Amino acid sequence: MSLPADLHMHTPLCRHATGEPVDYARRAVELGLTEIGFSDHSPMPRDDFDDWRMRADQLDEYVAKVRRAQKEFPQLTIRLALEVDYLPGHENWIRQLAARHPWDYFIGSVHYVSESWDIDNPAKLSEWKKRDALEVWQNYFDRLALAAESRLFEIIGHADLPKKFGIRPQQDCTPLYEKFLNAAAQAGCAIELNTAGLRKDCKEIYPSRQILQLAFQKNVPVTFGSDAHAPAEVGMNFADAVALARSVGYTQTCRFNQRRREFIAF
Ligand SMILES: [Zn+2]
Ligand SMILES: [Zn+2]
Repeated sequence: MSLPADLHMHTPLCRHATGEPVDYARRAVELGLTEIGFSDHSPMPRDDFDDWRMRADQLDEYVAKVRRAQKEFPQLTIRLALEVDYLPGHENWIRQLAARHPWDYFIGSVHYVSESWDIDNPAKLSEWKKRDALEVWQNYFDRLALAAESRLFEIIGHADLPKKFGIRPQQDCTPLYEKFLNAAAQAGCAIELNTAGLRKDCKEIYPSRQILQLAFQKNVPVTFGSDAHAPAEVGMNFADAVALARSVGYTQTCRFNQRRREFIAF
């Protein structure tokens, strides 16, 4: 059976990825993938918000790059999507983005636990030392639950991103996971198995087996994503992700076309 679709990959427009969409598509074909989706970092209402995303006036260029890859690789299904930052209060901005192009899906991700701290940013690693890890995880999962409840996203990205640098609370976080996953189940929102965690200090797929087990119990669907920031990362460690998903009981994944969901066996 072929590998599931890789629904999470970036482009150089976000200023921290290399390779054009056609290069990612070529790699996907080499690997025997039948479907991929581009989900680059969405613009913010203010272009000077940070320095790791496309500007608002680059959105059309982004879509054109993905269209070019679709044209060059007709044998590969290539979806058009965005990884959208969820911040409370940004709901109207996200709706405006949604109206601008015929997107196949939105991945909703929380990177910011406040207006100014993106917890996965290596340049801000020292912030972690100033805070209580549990407090960060609480803020993060509260926001993740709000993201799911907003119904603005088909998929929630890298659900336990705060583990990236290997800093974890001592306390049991099960209630935080439960609250988020109940919201995802209620909203019909999927979570992704994101293999980028294996390439970070935490050396673990996002999310953990514990979260994935809870998600399966609550009927939360899953998708797969490499979070590739370079063509060589496309489909990376997908065999591990598939094995993890199967080991907790998943037999189906989903795909998205014009924001409609379809289940398929993997
Ligand atoms: Zn990125
Ligand atoms: Zn992300």
